Amino acid sequence: METVSVKSIPHYINGEKVEGTNSRFGFVYSPSTGEKIATVPFASKEEVNETVKLAKEAYKKWENTSVGKRVQVLHKFRQLLVENTDELARLIGKENGKTISDAKGEISRGIESVDLAIGAPHILKGEHSVNVGGDINSYSMKQPLGVVTCISPFNFPVMVPLAMSVMAVAVGNAMILKPSEKVPCSAIYISELWEKAGLPSGVWNVINGDKDTVDAIITHEDIHAISFVGSTKVAEIIYETGTKYHKRVNAFGGGKNHMVIMPDADIDKAVDSFIGAAYGAASQRCMAISVAMPVGEKTAKVFTEKLKVKVEKLKVGSFDDEDVDFGAVISEEAKQSILLAIDQAVEEGANIVVDGRKAEVENNKGFYLGATLLDQVTSDMNMYKEEVFGPARIIVNVDTIDEAIDLINDHKYGNGVTVFTNSGRHARKFTQEIEVGMVGVNVPIPIPVGYHNFGGWKGSRYGEGQMFGPDTARFFTKTKTVSERWFDQEETENETNFDFPSS
Ligand code: NAD
Repeated sequence: METVSVKSIPHYINGEKVEGTNSRFGFVYSPSTGEKIATVPFASKEEVNETVKLAKEAYKKWENTSVGKRVQVLHKFRQLLVENTDELARLIGKENGKTISDAKGEISRGIESVDLAIGAPHILKGEHSVNVGGDINSYSMKQPLGVVTCISPFNFPVMVPLAMSVMAVAVGNAMILKPSEKVPCSAIYISELWEKAGLPSGVWNVINGDKDTVDAIITHEDIHAISFVGSTKVAEIIYETGTKYHKRVNAFGGGKNHMVIMPDADIDKAVDSFIGAAYGAASQRCMAISVAMPVGEKTAKVFTEKLKVKVEKLKVGSFDDEDVDFGAVISEEAKQSILLAIDQAVEEGANIVVDGRKAEVENNKGFYLGATLLDQVTSDMNMYKEEVFGPARIIVNVDTIDEAIDLINDHKYGNGVTVFTNSGRHARKFTQEIEVGMVGVNVPIPIPVGYHNFGGWKGSRYGEGQMFGPDTARFFTKTKTVSERWFDQEETENETNFDFPSS
């Protein structure tokens, strides 16, 4: 285990690393050791205003840079992400706690967003109709919005910022990223890669901060769109405030993702899939499976027995230990809230099948929690109703597929869901009737690839437009439709018509 000295994280504004001037700041911890590794400045309103001003100036040139030239920067940026994956993955592990192999997976998914954005010239092509009437041609174009912002969570320090922002930059906007104050180092590292890739100063900026900083950004008159990813509680606030200030907003929140196991499913495959999808990254994924829902008593018995054996073997440890299955949770506060949720569930009648509450890692004060599994959980318990962002997973038994669908549809979240079955009829019914944004059939985590749209329903997303796929380009552009006619210079006859134009 290496030790790291406490350093001050800068902002990245107008192509430069800038020390924060505000007196407010926070600490960054390494979840694997529990040590403070950095201080992070919380930008003031004045610092936000200055950044927006500089980004606005940069935007004027960037929007008029040909899309081909913009994409050349993205090619180089992609190459740098690939070349620096090892170093970046280590940085993610250090500040977030996830294992290096998981961090590499996150980076490769982030690179998918760059791949999609490299297609910006194609995506920006508008529609064109010749002679819609009276020799008029009509065409549409997609134009950037101006200065836009992304506000990101701690659990994907690289993938989520890239998924939210690269397309925005490719289509001609200037970006201000406000990363989670818990993981600011990766965002500064990404900024260095943008700089090396040749992105003009001011097109990409990182402002560190907390709620006050976010408030200054999302109410600023020159911010035209807000893309937020984080908890539902904050997503609601961002959506309400942003729309009140007439911004375009999409705000992605939390989830409670179910895996339904039908009696005809391959139970071993379901168990293996549950293990990775539920406990990977210490369950700190918005698409992590939190609830196993076996259908029928026999399925529940077999599934629970087989799952218990595998959960007991899961190993928690430091991000750089290659032998562990997952790392620490993000903070001591997060650890305590997960422990509280488990205790409350037990008080309410849940049964602990595997108890990871006392997991320890030798000579280490990291924020560790072992894999925990509870059954006899019912839908009225908080443990079922609320998102628990840590390795405490639950089993809720149901008797029929209809009961499973009804319960899931009643849940306030609708991010992801998956069903394990060998029946096409069951799969079809499930995918048709389920009220969730991303649905899997016999897949562990139904997270779409980068060129498909990503986004939940209900309390998992506020606002229109999804992330990742082509919707990102739509969200960060506005459409203009032009009708044009060119007169024949020889024509001398003029005519005035008061009727509504028709073809
Ligand atoms: P969070 O809501 O605490 O923080 C997210 C961002 O909002 C951070 O940048 C933070 O500084 C800022 N913030 C926090 N409180 C704020 C406030 N009161 N006003 C304005 N800004 C505020 O989320 P987190 O703990 O960093 O991330 C975990 C959550 O994110 C989980 O709920 C997870 O499910 C969710 N998440 C969702 C998706 C998705 O695509 N739906 C993806 C990843 C994570």
